[in-house]
Amino acid sequence: MTQLSRRTFLKSLVAGAVVVGFDRATSSWVTSAHAAEQLAPNFPTFDGVLYTDAATRAEAAEDYGHIIHRTPNAVLKPGSVNDIVRLVRFAKNNNIKISGRGQGHSTYGQPQIQGGVVIDMSTLNTIHEIGRDYVIADAGLKWHQLLDSTLAQGLTPPVMTDYIELSIGGTLSVGGIGGASHQHGVQIDNVIELTVVTGEGNLETCSKNRNKDLFESVLGGLGQFAIIVRAKLKLIRAETSARVFNLFYDDIETFTGDQTRLIRDGRFDYVEGQVVPKAGGGWNFMLEAVSYYSGNKLPNNTRLLRNLSYTQGTEVISDTTYFAFLNRLEATEAFLRSIGVWFLPHPWFDVFVKSRHVNQYVGNILETLTLDDTGQGPILLYPVKTNKFTKPFFRVPDGEIVFLFDILRTAPNIPEVINAMMASNRELFETNRDLGGNRYAIGAIEFSQADWQQHFGNVWNDFRRAKNRYDPCNILGGGQGIF
Ligand SMILES: Cc1cc2nc3c(=O)[nH]c(=O)nc-3n(C[C@H](O)[C@H](O)[C@H](O)COP(=O)(O)OP(=O)(O)OC[C@H]3O[C@@H](n4cnc5c(N)ncnc54)[C@H](O)[C@@H]3O)c2cc1C
Repeated sequence: MTQLSRRTFLKSLVAGAVVVGFDRATSSWVTSAHAAEQLAPNFPTFDGVLYTDAATRAEAAEDYGHIIHRTPNAVLKPGSVNDIVRLVRFAKNNNIKISGRGQGHSTYGQPQIQGGVVIDMSTLNTIHEIGRDYVIADAGLKWHQLLDSTLAQGLTPPVMTDYIELSIGGTLSVGGIGGASHQHGVQIDNVIELTVVTGEGNLETCSKNRNKDLFESVLGGLGQFAIIVRAKLKLIRAETSARVFNLFYDDIETFTGDQTRLIRDGRFDYVEGQVVPKAGGGWNFMLEAVSYYSGNKLPNNTRLLRNLSYTQGTEVISDTTYFAFLNRLEATEAFLRSIGVWFLPHPWFDVFVKSRHVNQYVGNILETLTLDDTGQGPILLYPVKTNKFTKPFFRVPDGEIVFLFDILRTAPNIPEVINAMMASNRELFETNRDLGGNRYAIGAIEFSQADWQQHFGNVWNDFRRAKNRYDPCNILGGGQGIF
């Protein structure tokens, strides 16, 4: 969007659709250009557009969970980084709440804010530079878009989430875990430098050598300290192909035992796993392991499958391109959209479980869990190594290895069913918490401020200090319900 002069900007706006001023006396947005001329002195101009129309605000009151709906007063689609600086400074001085929004793929209102301003980061989506082992990109860019450009140069981020239509800023706010995490940590462990706008409205660059405290706070900081506007991310050489092994198990001990063996010896590039429904009821387990390769350097199946105890003869082995593997949920998404399931409520349950409790904890849940309880959504279960995690606010239980356990529920649009799933999420969370586990903060679990304090445990004081330092007026990230 081209930059308009202040006067042209005010005149060109459609009254009622776009905000042109803010009335301090009534703490409300003004949508008439004439009125804004009277109020104008401190109201910022934007290179992008600040919307107040009902449709745009309603979009910002949604997320993938479709459970929480908080309607902002306005939505900024920034045209520049400076737009964010201007808005945050103005908001800070006028006590207006702000929330960054990437793709809105949270499940419990995390990117929403009632009555404030949502910054829709998707308009900032430029790739600025691709180097030999890094890329510099805007935080509103989707990982899919990033991959399109880096793979053209034979490069890839080391870790990808299972679904690549998420924004860079969105996953860097939570962690970003995937099948390569046992080798490379989560996505926030693979960031070289960030550019952010703090809650004070300061545009800062940070890395492990510069403003380290800010860098470590923002990565996995759940949007509490700053809006991430740009990231310099690590890249590694990408192989061109992927050999995918699906191995089936009847019992959880053998399944998690083999998963643990695989992430310890590192023979695969990617290790995940799912709890899958058994014909006639009950559950089986599917280990998903992938070996990447290029050209004729084919993976050695015998070596890769050595000493594993899956049910012999049930293995499914297939080859695909590296990108097709990363983009494997595309077809599923298209299908779920076509039948409307994509748009149903998603009360997701996402936790990290201590390795020594995983068989019993998950096993107990599976004894009574039915497809009605999951709404036929997938159940993920896979281990990661905690020594790969370097950022303090990405919380996992103690121990060399922990398991990610997700019940990715879909609910019909029936309040009683959603409430029952939410109650179950809370109960399962508490059992896991009492066993020393914790949540992965992407899901839908009712959480009080005391729960957050418990979640951050021995880094809670650091988390609070970072809030006081970078967002002292508490204008950012209210959708998480932490402060
Ligand atoms: C189908 C699906 C599959 C998924 N698979 C995985 C997976 O494999 N691994 C995994 O780790 N996660 C996964 N997720 C969860 C996902 O990583 C998180 O929900 C992520 O936060 C969503 O990114 P988003 O761009 O949609 O962020 P949003 O939902 O828009 O925002 C998430 C949080 O980040 C904040 N935020 C967003 N952008 C910024 C910014 N630029 N600066 C500061 N704060 C910001 C928001 O305020 C909010 O608190 C999946 C989600 C879905 C729906």
